[in-house]
Amino acid sequence: MKSLQYYLFFLALLIAQQSYAQKDSTFVFPDSAKVMNDLYFLASDSLLGRETNTEGNEIARNYIINRLQKLGVSAYVQDYTQAFTFGKDTIPAVNILGFVEGFSGKHFIVISAHYDHVGMKDSSKIFNGADENASGVSAILALAEYFRENQPENNLLFAFFDAEEKGLQGAKHFMQSVVMDTSRIKMNVNLDMVSRGDKNELYAVGTYFTPFLKPLITEASKDKSITLLFGRDEPKKKPNWVNSSDHAPFHKAEIPFVYFGVDDHKDYHKITDTADKVNPDFYLEAICLIKDAIENFDANLAEIVYGK
Ligand SMILES: [Zn+2]
Repeated sequence: MKSLQYYLFFLALLIAQQSYAQKDSTFVFPDSAKVMNDLYFLASDSLLGRETNTEGNEIARNYIINRLQKLGVSAYVQDYTQAFTFGKDTIPAVNILGFVEGFSGKHFIVISAHYDHVGMKDSSKIFNGADENASGVSAILALAEYFRENQPENNLLFAFFDAEEKGLQGAKHFMQSVVMDTSRIKMNVNLDMVSRGDKNELYAVGTYFTPFLKPLITEASKDKSITLLFGRDEPKKKPNWVNSSDHAPFHKAEIPFVYFGVDDHKDYHKITDTADKVNPDFYLEAICLIKDAIENFDANLAEIVYGK
């Protein structure tokens, strides 16, 4: 009898442990605490504006690499890093490349956000760059975690580009480098300024060149409160954002791209672009919209062709 009691006790313990383990493994997306924590850290004063080739930029880089390691996102290159130099002064810079392997393993979607910003002015004024572009970086960390949990059909490369503020140098170098046969890249999804809900509007730029993408993005916005806007990509029309961020070198190579971003706001490239100005409700919903769009791109990648 005693042995039966023991047996029942251990059985109850086992069931309790299992249900605890199940609860513990429930995947939350996006995890608002993690996303906001990443954004607040990257936009904090201690990173001094994350200018390329500064200590603050290096701290941001190490933070991103650490997060990727903890998330179990693979390194696409050794130590996740692609070092390069640019300009006649050969300024050093470093891209960060994480990787989630797809079921089919042949083609790539490059999901990008630049992690550098413009640094400081007069050695006391810090450009925190919360929206520009700690928001894009923190968003793609959340996306990398999601797709590590939910394996995509195609490979996803998570590119954290450096030196965007110096003339899109990180993205340009990536496209010219030999880390990847660029014919395997079927699409670029670039995030730059995705957290300011001042107008509750998010732009998706680039469908002018690949109209097939438009219904896939519209579908992703259906159950969202955000107003999705297209445009800013037609030749000769202003404003035009086709060359305004890291999607430009992909566009130049005639790779389909979508750039997600909010309209310029009063704190754009000012020392007032701080984390407290971010609207978490808007930002988290924008991340959901972008995730849903990427799932649609992934499911239809074979049909996504530049110019069609
Ligand atoms: Zn930017």
